[in-house]
Amino acid sequence: MDVERIRSDFPLLGKGLIYLDSAASSLTPEPVLARMLEFYREYRANVERGVHRLSVRATEEFEAARREVAGLLGASPEEIVFTKNTTEALNLVAAGREWRRGENVVTTLLEHHSNLLPWRRPGVEVRVVRPDREGRLDPGEFERAVDDRTAVVALTHLSNVLGTLSPLEEVAEVASEHGAWLVVDGAQSVPHREVDVRRLGCTFLAFSGHKMLGPTGVGVLYGRREELGRLSPLCPGGGTVREVTGSGHEFLEPPAGLEGGTPPIAEAIGLGEAVRYLRAVGLGSIRRHEEALTRRMLEGLWGLEGVEVYGPPPEEERGGIVSFNVEGMDPHEVASLLDASAGVLVRSGHHCAMPLHLELLGRPLGSVRASLYLYNTAGEVERFLEAVGEIARSLR
Ligand code: PMP
Repeated sequence: MDVERIRSDFPLLGKGLIYLDSAASSLTPEPVLARMLEFYREYRANVERGVHRLSVRATEEFEAARREVAGLLGASPEEIVFTKNTTEALNLVAAGREWRRGENVVTTLLEHHSNLLPWRRPGVEVRVVRPDREGRLDPGEFERAVDDRTAVVALTHLSNVLGTLSPLEEVAEVASEHGAWLVVDGAQSVPHREVDVRRLGCTFLAFSGHKMLGPTGVGVLYGRREELGRLSPLCPGGGTVREVTGSGHEFLEPPAGLEGGTPPIAEAIGLGEAVRYLRAVGLGSIRRHEEALTRRMLEGLWGLEGVEVYGPPPEEERGGIVSFNVEGMDPHEVASLLDASAGVLVRSGHHCAMPLHLELLGRPLGSVRASLYLYNTAGEVERFLEAVGEIARSLR
């Protein structure tokens, strides 16, 4: 993988900054920007309802983006619904499902708020599986928590705080034995590694375009065909219906039936291009590149006095997300200092995972999080480690 070649595609990387915040949102390369500009310049029109040439072209490009996303996941295009982001995709499942009284949802203490709050529904019990302190989940805990009244097992694929990977295939088996849906939050996995929905055995998978080189404003819900057909739209209205009479209506089949109103057209086309870009580089190469940088980052941080690092040790398989604290310092202060002193951009706070910080790590102020992507280099990791080391030493 030619990282310098890749870096030349990202205008923001030419500004001397070290961007270690891709888990919050990634940067966008020129080919994706160019594809979106092309839409606005060459064929800007609404999709799905026009017969004129611009509308036909826009529809073709929009549907080609859907096919590109389907190809990435090993799904079929009818199983891909464009949403605003991961949060909306998860809410589409939670609000679109017909709930029965007495049902329960099994989720975990690792979850982002977006994979917790949508499941808090009247009359539905939410059971929370606890990982160990490093964030490892034991499939046996799911066997104990899931029963025949479990409607949904809602689980992150890759923790946005600890970088741990969930045992999805084992959990999928438990869920399917009890007839429950497995809803996977793929916001941190789909951008960084090969994800095949059939192999994972998930019923639904949600992720965001802005974390995978695409624009903001577009996300995806993958749903197994039959189960997708059981959801009702979050936004019924234009674009979702086959027929409307004075008093009734009939919804279209998914995906159109679940995409209310004018969709994010330029954004979906941009996401399609981002997927093409990632596949051309190769998700396997991206994963290996991130793994090598993560190992070095972890080893470096573990060796610093006064730094507390969370998640599994460097030798374990995990994603390119590293959270830590400098003892005696507010995480926001550390992040501000890293920016001011070294132009290193990281995230600080609870990363939308308050229960994890409070109940698992015992860190109510949250943590500092550095996250890696295909455009980061070994040199950047070293400069980050030097800057953290200086901050930690300044307190001694
Ligand atoms: N889940 C996880 C694991 C995430 O990291 C994020 C983004 N921070 C989300 C869900 C929510 O993504 P979005 O804000 O794009 O809806």
